[in-house]
Amino acid sequence: METGKAFLQLENYIGGRFVPTKSHISSHDPSTGEVYCKVPDSGKEEVDAAVNAAKAAFPIWSSWSAQDRSRVMNKLADLIENHLEEFAQAESKDQAGLISPWNLPLYLLTWKIAPAIACGNTVVAKPSEMSSVTAWMMCRFLSEADIPPGVVNIVFGTGPKAGEALVCHPDVPIISFTGSTVTAQRIIEKSAPHCKKLSLELGGKNPAIVFEDANLEECVTTTVRSSFSNQGEICLCTSRIYVHSSIYTEFLQKFVEATRKWKVSIPSDPTANMGALISQTHLTKVRSYVRKALAEGATIKCGEGVDTLNIPSNNQGGYFMLPTVITGLKEESCCMQEEIFGPVTCVVPFDTEEEAIEKANGVKYGLAATIWTRDVGRTHRVAKKLQAGLVWTNCWLVRDLNLPFGGMKASGLGREGAKDSYEFFTEVKTVTIKH
Ligand code: NAD
Repeated sequence: METGKAFLQLENYIGGRFVPTKSHISSHDPSTGEVYCKVPDSGKEEVDAAVNAAKAAFPIWSSWSAQDRSRVMNKLADLIENHLEEFAQAESKDQAGLISPWNLPLYLLTWKIAPAIACGNTVVAKPSEMSSVTAWMMCRFLSEADIPPGVVNIVFGTGPKAGEALVCHPDVPIISFTGSTVTAQRIIEKSAPHCKKLSLELGGKNPAIVFEDANLEECVTTTVRSSFSNQGEICLCTSRIYVHSSIYTEFLQKFVEATRKWKVSIPSDPTANMGALISQTHLTKVRSYVRKALAEGATIKCGEGVDTLNIPSNNQGGYFMLPTVITGLKEESCCMQEEIFGPVTCVVPFDTEEEAIEKANGVKYGLAATIWTRDVGRTHRVAKKLQAGLVWTNCWLVRDLNLPFGGMKASGLGREGAKDSYEFFTEVKTVTIKH
């Protein structure tokens, strides 16, 4: 919806300066549905200019010592109060293309830029067209931090146009991509003729396994958070909860009760637990999964279609929905197999440890998993058998940026520290245990 307001108009950042573009696309405020800013609709021409700037800056930047590079990166980290200083120097040096998704936009973008430039690469980054503003704001700090022109170039635009121009560019031999598995398949195909090095961080369908000896209070509180934080729009969010049959009824009752207390509200409400989803298209997609579940005979325990969503009249055009809990689904249901990437989670009972592991592993994804038990022996046994790059026990989202991160199976490729064999993935699995 366009109102008569003046919009923020973003520009590409190429060779150390902002460069206007001829055409733009609209980006919407998810909490109102109104146009919020205009984002450059870049294509091959803009990507070529950015790659040329990155190539021109490369000889000098790559010859800087690691200490000099880290000095300016620390300065940038201070300016944006970010985690850039976590990254140390390594050996790879080239022009890298970085493509990031709309969720956690600044965090995921800087998580790509920092290690790339710390290694002496120069980069062209393309943030998501749906959440470009924080990247654009960061550009202003690059020169202030004395990062030489051309080391970091940001080109805004859509995936098929700007993203694909970067993926296909012959002078960009490395692509680091975070996003959906479907887009990754396209990137693999398009980059194959150039034999590019790829790092792919993709989707998930993350299970939580709740054993009969779990601390239920902590488990319920954390699992509500792991399911619905950021509207369930974090790749590491829980979307399938397997609960031992002996505590299933008690867990479900407590979980639904706690979910109903999770407040959906507008950005200015400090008591909000959840805001709007990213777009109308995404909201429609997430809701369609709830409808499909109903059609399959599942039960919606709370949320969408069951409870009432209260949003102020000014925000009626926003993309809000209630956190939703579903039971009674079969493992083969699309709600159990596909990444919904919204505030929807499914609860399923199990009887044995083997059954829980088999069900948890029964999807194409393998990003993260959570185990709830007080039995340390079981923790190690189960974690080893779970096909997930990250396994948390009795906690969620406890992170150290120095630990290997990434997914198995269709959740990723090029996981740091890992090789392509299944055994090796298991050995380097990141298992975080809270005692
Ligand atoms: P997406 O795949 O639609 O888009 C991601 C980025 O790729 C965007 O910048 C988009 O413009 C670009 N893109 C789209 N088509 C392209 C093409 N043909 N060529 C080049 N670039 C293209 O994903 P999204 O909807 O923005 O993000 C959500 C997805 O990201 C979810 O699947 C989520 O699980 C995943 N994700 C994964 C991680 C992780 O670390 N594993 C982290 C965050 C998000």
